[in-house]
Amino acid sequence: MNITLKILTPLWTGGVDQTCDRLHETGLIGSLRWWYEALVRGLGGYACDPTGEDRCPDKDGNRCVVCELFGCTGWARKFRLKLLTAPKIKDRAIAAGQSLEIEFIPLRSIDPEEWCLLNATFRLISEYGAIGGKTIFKPSDEKNRQNEFHHLDFGLAKIEFSEESPCHNLNLDKIRGYVTDRKWRSGSHKDYSWASLQHFWCVNGRYLARKDDQTSTFNQVLGRKQPKRQGQYLEDQGESSRWLAGSQQESKKVFSFKSPDKGRTFGFVKLGTVDFDEIKKRLKQVWSDFDPEKEFMTGVQILKDIFK
Ligand SMILES: [Zn+2]
Repeated sequence: MNITLKILTPLWTGGVDQTCDRLHETGLIGSLRWWYEALVRGLGGYACDPTGEDRCPDKDGNRCVVCELFGCTGWARKFRLKLLTAPKIKDRAIAAGQSLEIEFIPLRSIDPEEWCLLNATFRLISEYGAIGGKTIFKPSDEKNRQNEFHHLDFGLAKIEFSEESPCHNLNLDKIRGYVTDRKWRSGSHKDYSWASLQHFWCVNGRYLARKDDQTSTFNQVLGRKQPKRQGQYLEDQGESSRWLAGSQQESKKVFSFKSPDKGRTFGFVKLGTVDFDEIKKRLKQVWSDFDPEKEFMTGVQILKDIFK
């Protein structure tokens, strides 16, 4: 499988050796894995937290469907991701505007469903999400919440070229059947259950801006009293404005990007506290001409699109 990604906003890789392709490859795999997990959870399957104590393999040596492809202790990743073009670096970031050609080299037999899931993961990132270092999305840890989003190392990237979709003989039901197959390890998602397409929403073409130092549309969406900004969002850097937050009270996750094609805002709800309707209501307060019926996409709707 070969995919070419166009980098739309700078991808920050601060602190790492910029000249080493292997580090960029590792970062890409981390981000891919994170979205692949969200996809699997969204389809009703189980994905372990590879950074947590619950990670695969379990005591009986079983692994989840994500570790099957991406690897875990005692089981190597089934593919190698190779960058065919060396990324151009500017201001310690992978510069916007360039194309990155990525090749997937199978190291062992990969199921057709896995190729399809991998392809759908790219479509998810390209059309509805963002790509970058895995640290940004690390599931929350109660003690560590304040540092949760201190790494700003991701941005927007769009599929510029990909070969024919490997999903042509498959459909959503077959993929769902595959990820929920009883041969995979199962379990409960606990703290990171939010990281699932079931809880995901996206609005394309809009971003949340800061009006001035004291007021931000971002805070309005989070329902946060203003002003309150320490550690919650960061200054504009370069051509992209990126707003991140993880509210400590409500476990909301909202991400917003300004990009050459107007931007993207997406997030995860915690059902039972702030649901989709509440998010729509808050977005409407920020964007007066916002039409939720047309513009607001939920993960369940997105699933139908990315497995076409
Ligand atoms: Zn696992």
